[in-house]
Amino acid sequence: MLFLRPLMTNRQLFSTVSTTATLKDIVAAATTVSLSSHRKQIPANKDLVFGKTFADHMLDVNWDSKNGWAAPEIKPYGNLSLAPSATVFHYGVECFEGMKAYKDKSGSIRLFRPDMNMNRLFRSCQRLALPEFNKDELLKSIEQLLLIDERWIPSERGYSLYIRPTAIATQESLGVGSSSNAKIFVITCPVGPYYKTGFAAVSLSATSHYVRAWPGGTGDSKIGGNYACGIRPQLEVAQHGYAQNLWLFGPNDNLTEVGTMNLFLFWINKAGQRELVTPPLDGTILPGVTRDSILNLARTWGEFEVIERPVTMPEVIEALKEKRLLEMFGAGTAAIVSPIKNIGYKGTDYAIPLDPSDPTSQAGKLTKRFADTIMGIQYGEIPHEWSVVVKQ
Ligand SMILES: *Cc1c(COP(=O)(O)O)cnc(C)c1O
Repeated sequence: MLFLRPLMTNRQLFSTVSTTATLKDIVAAATTVSLSSHRKQIPANKDLVFGKTFADHMLDVNWDSKNGWAAPEIKPYGNLSLAPSATVFHYGVECFEGMKAYKDKSGSIRLFRPDMNMNRLFRSCQRLALPEFNKDELLKSIEQLLLIDERWIPSERGYSLYIRPTAIATQESLGVGSSSNAKIFVITCPVGPYYKTGFAAVSLSATSHYVRAWPGGTGDSKIGGNYACGIRPQLEVAQHGYAQNLWLFGPNDNLTEVGTMNLFLFWINKAGQRELVTPPLDGTILPGVTRDSILNLARTWGEFEVIERPVTMPEVIEALKEKRLLEMFGAGTAAIVSPIKNIGYKGTDYAIPLDPSDPTSQAGKLTKRFADTIMGIQYGEIPHEWSVVVKQ
């Protein structure tokens, strides 16, 4: 079942209302810079809490349907001023990205596959009828922001500067329609490793009475609205001691994602072969950069089968009973991988294997290997085209 949506470009959609040819696109070289007079104190690495402290500056790019994109502005991090009638507040027209900047041993700033984040933001904008933009130019403006706030990029391995590009509809109107005004802004915050003291495997609650995404919905776009409705389900399972929801979908209880991460299983398939499995990009799965990287690495290694296909809870339980299930983990930029140790499903807790050769271990061997390899690439220790050095 593959849901390939013939997505019209926004230019096609809007071609009747405006001639986009005259509209300006983002031009990084036109970026204006207004430096903050106040240099904030950067917390010590050990005191970093995800998403709480923001660097001195932000990037702000405004769009309107008459002129297109204005010159990008780098300015002090601060509040936005928007009309209370702005579309974003009423109909949730917002999408975002999550990416990181890393400092390598020689002090260079590195990004990990940033083109994928720009492509995904572009597609999320298309889905919300937000304006399209030049992806390379937006990335160049973000790189300028990183160079200006370079001191905020921690140099210790495992630490990084989290980058949050965000697009919103800002038209002053309660009408439900494509917005005549929009904004892309980018804020950054220093973050520590997801696992400060080694891996901590998580316990999941398989959830089917709430649904994260559905065919024809927005599950494959990085949209704030997808997150808003996941907060209450997460709180509910937390009351029963589970860290996250394992989102199921459909009459067969298909596994889709875990919390806000993609999902992987490593098992011995019915033909007796070791196989890495993840659900396919059928429209309900967010196309993660980490997901794609893991699939790519595994296919390059060529040591086991790699397949994108639907997996159901009954299949997982059968594999467990037959001792064919080897490892399960979530994958996303924040943690790279998140090992899974338990799944609560229909009143029963199923223990998921971690590393059978080490009873104290909190992650399977393959899970760890993906984490080590990707982190090695991100910090420039393993030379790879995915790691892009930001030029001064
Ligand atoms: C962001 C996100 C992911 C992970 O994507 P990465 O690009 O690997 O960070 C997975 N699932 C959901 C729902 C997400 O929003």
